[in-house]
Amino acid sequence: MSRLPILERWAGGERIARWHRDVGATLLVAVLAHASLILVGYADLEDNPVLTEAGVLLRDYEDMVSAFAAAGILVLVGLTSVRAIRTALPYELWHALHLSSYAVLLLGFAHQFSNGAQLFRPGPVRTFWIAMYVVVLAALLWGRVVAPLAFNLRHRLRVADVVAESPDTISIYLTGDRLERLEMLGGQFFRWRFLARGCWWQAHPFSVSAAANGRWLRLTVKVVGRHTADLRDLEAGTRVWAEGPSGTFTAAHRTRERALLIAGGSGITPIRAMLEELPPGAALIYRARTPGDVLLHRELDWLAEARDTAIWYVVGSRDDPGPRQVMSPDGLRRLVPDLARRDVYLCGPPGLVEQSLRVLREAGVPRRQIHLATFEL
Ligand SMILES: Cc1cc2nc3c(=O)[nH]c(=O)nc-3n(C[C@H](O)[C@H](O)[C@H](O)COP(=O)(O)OP(=O)(O)OC[C@H]3O[C@@H](n4cnc5c(N)ncnc54)[C@H](O)[C@@H]3O)c2cc1C
Repeated sequence: MSRLPILERWAGGERIARWHRDVGATLLVAVLAHASLILVGYADLEDNPVLTEAGVLLRDYEDMVSAFAAAGILVLVGLTSVRAIRTALPYELWHALHLSSYAVLLLGFAHQFSNGAQLFRPGPVRTFWIAMYVVVLAALLWGRVVAPLAFNLRHRLRVADVVAESPDTISIYLTGDRLERLEMLGGQFFRWRFLARGCWWQAHPFSVSAAANGRWLRLTVKVVGRHTADLRDLEAGTRVWAEGPSGTFTAAHRTRERALLIAGGSGITPIRAMLEELPPGAALIYRARTPGDVLLHRELDWLAEARDTAIWYVVGSRDDPGPRQVMSPDGLRRLVPDLARRDVYLCGPPGLVEQSLRVLREAGVPRRQIHLATFEL
């Protein structure tokens, strides 16, 4: 999670977040097993009850208080990452708790050397282990401090204008220096920190809905909570701190020549930016609950014509007969007969993404040709 640009480019922020979750869960189980096996083993050797042995470990062994604290923090981070608990917490609280994992690195460090049989004496194993710590620290420093600092000093992004796209959606136009040299692909996202009152202390991910064109770039944001509501009041000239670009949801990551894009609601934002980079012949299905939920309508029609792209606006709730028919294996094949030979890009609410994924697999699209973005990290 160092956000090292080379890693983000290679695997993409979403996939790295998935690996992070899986490795994190494994680490938690391994650390708990390590602590309990040591405790039970030592208690047995010394013929002590387990609780007495825990006291002995804390009192008589070096650096064990901080190691226990590290394990405690790890358990807390693990518990608050369980989906049901995570969604019940405010995002900022969850994020602050999650950041405390860095304290785990620090607090758990010393006991490995004062008590670990393999690391106690100098030698190749100890040198290798310390080198791994140095690599992690260097990656963090580079990905989280040096690279963003260089990017923001180079481009000095600021708000140029905020435009209403619908009653609950805005577009934020950004301008800055040397935009012609801003390297990014349509479909990627940044973590944006708007340096205005009430906003500066949090960074939120938003895809770019129009990639940098030398003069400006644009985000399109649906108002869903406190922060996105505050963005409506941004003033021209507000400085913006950006971290990125991230993500492999781009035309460059496709495996086939042609693509089918399926967007739901505000999921159109990365797809709109990708449309400019896909070869002619792409197809877009845009799902929206009501006609008012269709964003960037005129611009999409214009792009469709300019880039020989077919667009279908499928409006209505998922139980209405029209959308139900279109979003079925036969319905999709009728619209796009060469479906199985295309890459498919899906972006929208989790429900739409899951349902479409099922239907696409039933329609014979290989999993490696399906690219997902759910707006969840
Ligand atoms: C990769 C990615 C790209 C996105 N692109 C767009 C886009 O182009 N347009 C758009 O309208 N929305 C996009 N989103 C969603 C957007 O980030 C959230 O809607 C926004 O952060 C909500 O903030 P809030 O305080 O207004 O709402 P809240 O009610 O506080 O949050 C609503 C939900 O948004 C998520 N969230 C909140 N804060 C953060 C944060 N700091 N970082 C990550 N997730 C958070 C949480 O899951 C939370 O449950 C994207 C999300 C991701 C992960």
